[in-house]
Amino acid sequence: MEKRYYPFSSYLKKTFNKKVYKITLDGGFSCPNRDGTISFGGCIFCDETGSYSRCNNVKNSVQMQIKKSIEKLTKQFKAEAFMAYFQSYSNTYAPVDYLKQIYDSVFLDDKIVSISIGTRPDCVDNEKLDLISTYKYPWIEYGLQSANNKTLKLINRGHDFECFRRAVIETKKRNIKVCAHIILGFPNESKKDMLETAKKLSELEIDGIKIHMLTVLADSPLAKMYKENSFYLLNMEQYVQIVCDILEILPKTTTIQRIAGTGFSETTLEPKWVNRRFEILNLIDKIMIQRNSYQGQNYTNKKIS
Ligand code: SF4
Repeated sequence: MEKRYYPFSSYLKKTFNKKVYKITLDGGFSCPNRDGTISFGGCIFCDETGSYSRCNNVKNSVQMQIKKSIEKLTKQFKAEAFMAYFQSYSNTYAPVDYLKQIYDSVFLDDKIVSISIGTRPDCVDNEKLDLISTYKYPWIEYGLQSANNKTLKLINRGHDFECFRRAVIETKKRNIKVCAHIILGFPNESKKDMLETAKKLSELEIDGIKIHMLTVLADSPLAKMYKENSFYLLNMEQYVQIVCDILEILPKTTTIQRIAGTGFSETTLEPKWVNRRFEILNLIDKIMIQRNSYQGQNYTNKKIS
């Protein structure tokens, strides 16, 4: 079925004229919000894995991770083109020489057509961005989670919205595409707050978005909070309605990289429905049809310079 939003897979197909498979990599990085530079506890929803790559891990070099993934995907799907995605922790959190070495190693295989680097907005600077801009079709994925500074404080992000905004502007100046990660359902946030985050992202004309439902992971500080004083978590219908509102607010050009995930059922305490990926995706399609709405329908074209 034709989607009423702009899936990332369509962007990849349009850009490279073939299906591009993502290879998730673990570059062995850490995170300043976990190692004590900013804090020891990390963001309250994060567990010790720091959203790690479940396909690859640092026991293998980046080159070896790529080799094994390409072999597997080629055998399984006859895949021909790949995007290297550094997922775990903060993948720009190292000296620029070291980053160059790691990122360069990705492109030793010419089937890698693009690179995407997940990081925090306070872990980039001009030198690092200049380096990243030299690679083929570069993307940076910034964790924001919410544009509300009170929420950012509550969840112990260690940076504010201004920091994110500055990073996005500097990144886009260098023609590096930006994907933002946000989380819906923080206990202090109303629907209005969540839509305000979407509005601020649309003003920045971000190139991609990953939307997550707040999940309580075992061993995260949030799990402790939840056990001590359980707070309300959105149900699937509420989550989906807000996702549809967000899609309507974002520009048509923003690629939708994630609106439902599979998660890790064994470490997800609540809500259990987040693992029902296809049900969530189908409900989003259904609600967009019921509303007769499309991505960008409520985009106001107010640009932040
Ligand atoms: S920045 Fe990422 S890795 Fe670091 S604590 Fe927060 S969610 Fe975890």
